[in-house]
Amino acid sequence: MARALCRKCHGGEAEVSVLVVAEHLRSEVRPVTLELISAAKELDGPITVAVIAADPSRLTEQVNRESVDEILAVRVDQDEFENDVYQAAVEALVEERGPDVVLTGFTVNSMGYAPALAAKLGLGFASDVFSLGNEGGAVVAERAFYGSKVNAELEFPGHDRILLMLRPTSWPPAAGQGKASVAEISVSVASSRARHQEFVEVAAGDVDIATADFLLSVGRGIGEKENLEQFEELAEKMGATLSVSRPIVDAGWVPNSRQVGQSGKTVTPKVYLALGISGAVQHLAGMKTSGTIIAVNSDPEAAIFNVAHFGAVADLFDVAEELDKLY
Ligand SMILES: Cc1cc2nc3c(=O)[nH]c(=O)nc-3n(C[C@H](O)[C@H](O)[C@H](O)COP(=O)(O)OP(=O)(O)OC[C@H]3O[C@@H](n4cnc5c(N)ncnc54)[C@H](O)[C@@H]3O)c2cc1C
Repeated sequence: MARALCRKCHGGEAEVSVLVVAEHLRSEVRPVTLELISAAKELDGPITVAVIAADPSRLTEQVNRESVDEILAVRVDQDEFENDVYQAAVEALVEERGPDVVLTGFTVNSMGYAPALAAKLGLGFASDVFSLGNEGGAVVAERAFYGSKVNAELEFPGHDRILLMLRPTSWPPAAGQGKASVAEISVSVASSRARHQEFVEVAAGDVDIATADFLLSVGRGIGEKENLEQFEELAEKMGATLSVSRPIVDAGWVPNSRQVGQSGKTVTPKVYLALGISGAVQHLAGMKTSGTIIAVNSDPEAAIFNVAHFGAVADLFDVAEELDKLY
């Protein structure tokens, strides 16, 4: 397959310039932004980070990390994320700055505008990318197919500009104070068709699974709602906090504050005990950086075993019974 040609060569090295689109929520830059900066470093070129907000100056210092060359403070008329505002603002930045690569998170926010922008501008595109490289000026991105059974390296022949959405938690957060210059940019964005109204807080009194040291996490393998109580009791006995995969929330058995994963919470407990969870990528995105992962699944091919440090191919109810006797 032909590769995209390197357009800029610096001291014999092929450079790929990168524009990182920062994500933020309630005046805090989201962790994925710092991960995008780490990923950008792998492309060996100048790194620009765009912060799009009503008052970007409150956020620029949070993205001023080692290796960032420039921060673009992009002023728009609303602070919280809206699809059409981001699409218009990033389009203007791409046209004005002409980066070789635009990086966004593979997140609910970016899914709302990044694929549409790539299609509109005819950019090379890949989503859910978890590995990146610069091979002589050609960008190579890796992502999974067929339910994570196959990993493929993607090239972007015929495209001198690409947009990649990167899987959260696949790179460490960028550390170290940077010395980036800050430029204020105004872009013309027609008023948004949507407007953020309010944040609704999760019910007071529920636990925060994101700060727990020990999570006992159950998935669809528990079968029935009636079985949930025994795992709530087991978690309490073991000194663990109960968390779940998405089908348990979708079924309405527990509130979504207990959900681990891409559309739930990212957790990093010391111990993550997964019972009857298959290990879909969206689940792994929220827990694979846990300290020690222990998985119990009756299917020896379950993808959760790819990230587990310890695993048992067993019936989860048998394991639960043995644990119950121990505590
Ligand atoms: C945009 C998007 C966002 C998503 N976000 C999330 C998210 O944030 N979090 C999330 O979890 N999912 C998310 N999902 C859903 C995800 O794709 C999977 O469908 C989900 O994670 C599957 O949950 P599960 O592993 O509990 O169920 P299943 O995939 O049905 O797996 C159940 C597992 O239990 C095992 N099992 C069954 N009986 C037993 C037994 N008796 N003993 C031992 N093992 C048993 C089976 O072998 C199987 O591996 C998202 C999907 C999309 C499209």
